[in-house]
Amino acid sequence: LLEARGVRKTYGDHDVLKGVDLSVDTHHVVCLIGASGSGKSTLLRCLNLLEVVDDGEIWFDGAEITDPRVDVDDVRRDIGTVFQAFNLFPHMSVLDNVTLGPRKVRGARRGDAEERATALLTRFGLADQARKHPDALSGGQQQRVAIVRALAMEPKVLLLDEVTSALDPMLVGGVLEAVRELKAEGMTIVMATHEMQFAREVADEVLFLESGVVCERGTAEQVFTDPSDPRTREFLARHL
Ligand code: ATP
Ligand code: MG
Repeated sequence: LLEARGVRKTYGDHDVLKGVDLSVDTHHVVCLIGASGSGKSTLLRCLNLLEVVDDGEIWFDGAEITDPRVDVDDVRRDIGTVFQAFNLFPHMSVLDNVTLGPRKVRGARRGDAEERATALLTRFGLADQARKHPDALSGGQQQRVAIVRALAMEPKVLLLDEVTSALDPMLVGGVLEAVRELKAEGMTIVMATHEMQFAREVADEVLFLESGVVCERGTAEQVFTDPSDPRTREFLARHL
């Protein structure tokens, strides 16, 4: 469904991604792990065209989306993204945050958008929060709203960047539970995470990045129990 081929990204003279290949099948969960600064977020931003790649190609749903003729907005409509900082609109209710995209971008009618939003909020334990403003919610609730907002656009794939790392440890569980639920429903997900146990549990494939290079990839079982690259072994020894 989503594929990166030899993706390179440079900031000034800093090679942040040095030719990364990634292939995500429909209904699969791919986890990106690696030290801070290894390029996980940059790769996710390349995948949804928030960054222009310096070399290589990205393919989505059968088309090369790094082709300059592609309409970036069209692509982003189908690629949902949730970041560490949830970026909810503070002056709008939760319900309005969730329905804004479907109404403005997809042209949904308010009633339909609200009905769908309410169903999604209910599923993620947020039914009581719909009329509140984001700042009246806990960080974990806000992050779940951000996930619901992305889902309301009915994306074909969801990119999650450290969706738990800004949260209190107490609140992490609820967000991970939401991701677990999405996987169970068959959502296709690419997720950068520092939650190793969680990656191990949900990932169909794990990629370990170091300095912009994928030095290990495999099933969660392979990568976590029998890594072949010494850099992976060293990283896991510090983080498991
Ligand atoms: P973390 O685990 O801390 O989120 P990461 O793996 O997501 O790290 P990136 O955010 O992708 O890492 O950053 C990779 C490298 O690229 C870092 O060295 C960072 O300083 C650099 N970088 C990222 N964005 C920019 C930018 N806009 N301009 C210049 N350098 C950048
Ligand atoms: Mg990051």
